[in-house]
Amino acid sequence: MSFELLEKFRDPELCRKILDKMRSELDGELRFMEVCGTHTVAIFQSGLRSLLPEEVVHLSGPGCPVCVTHESEVNAFLDLAEKDNVILATFGDLMRVPGHNSRNLKKAQADGARIKVVYSPFDTLKLAKENPDDIVVFIGVGFETTAPTIAGTMKMARQQGITNLRVLCFHKTVPTALEALLTDSMTSIDGFILPGHVSAIIGIEPYKFIAEKYGKSAVVAGFEPLDILQSLNQMIEWRNKGEAHVANNYTRIVSDTGNAKAREVMYEVFEPVDALWRGIGEIPGSGLEIRPEWDQFDAKKEFGITIEEGPALPGCKCGDILKGIKQPDQCPLFKKACTPANPVGPCMVSTEGSCAAYYKYKLD
Ligand code: SF4
Ligand code: SF4
Repeated sequence: MSFELLEKFRDPELCRKILDKMRSELDGELRFMEVCGTHTVAIFQSGLRSLLPEEVVHLSGPGCPVCVTHESEVNAFLDLAEKDNVILATFGDLMRVPGHNSRNLKKAQADGARIKVVYSPFDTLKLAKENPDDIVVFIGVGFETTAPTIAGTMKMARQQGITNLRVLCFHKTVPTALEALLTDSMTSIDGFILPGHVSAIIGIEPYKFIAEKYGKSAVVAGFEPLDILQSLNQMIEWRNKGEAHVANNYTRIVSDTGNAKAREVMYEVFEPVDALWRGIGEIPGSGLEIRPEWDQFDAKKEFGITIEEGPALPGCKCGDILKGIKQPDQCPLFKKACTPANPVGPCMVSTEGSCAAYYKYKLD
């Protein structure tokens, strides 16, 4: 997309006009949740958070893949890092995610564990070929955005006869988590700003239940200020008319039907299972697991790993923050024991985490 076109989505005059319109049309609080770490950062970075009318309450949801990875899953990959014949491959954003007893992959690496940061799951093919006597385990976290690429990597590994690559599969799917939030008695959400990249894969059909079953609106939005403001304004207009809709406002990237080829590859290799989410607990059908036909790649089967609900990190309120029940500055550890340099929970580690965004951008 050209720079000129992008600039139009940042036009301050247009933003001001929409903000004025929102102010004049609001007839009460609008509690909206964004479900994408990139939206979290965009809302703070652009200054929107401080410009929104007081009645528009911004909640950050379970939109950062690193943050929603359950404590027990974190402990499982930290345990795996200690095995002699294992090389763990991971995206860099998991390196500082804390497990219990202040463990993390960075410290494990300093203590001698073989951990490689990769930029694409496809890098693991080369790593596996270069280390035929070891098992290379890729930590598969993330939503529908990343799962198709990891499925594609497994397909390539099979084609190339690579036998020492495994995937520790902790993938999760977004729509089921939104339904869990809507049925949670602790939460109060009037509408969702839906994730752009996830929606590019799944389209908008899987979100339709939000309006049809729960009478709330949800809009797929881009990441520029005008994208976000227009979507919020639309939700206000619908509510004033007593309507609820699911719409796609990010048509320059997202098609209503998503990417069928990516979904085909994803569901050829993975199948839906119940999964644990940090702070939310088990959500039926919200995870992806490796299908039995592909279990030669399954690290859980290889190493006998089972994931069970364990205790949360002491003192950390990431779970409440991911559900929109608390804001980061309501955590007693925020900016005190917990800072980006010394994160206690994942929401302060990840660049897309709410606590890190609050720390970096929110003015007191
Ligand atoms: S992967 Fe995409 S949709 Fe998910 S948090 Fe990151 S930017 Fe948002
Ligand atoms: S400030 Fe730190 S300890 Fe508190 S919720 Fe955020 S990440 Fe967890």
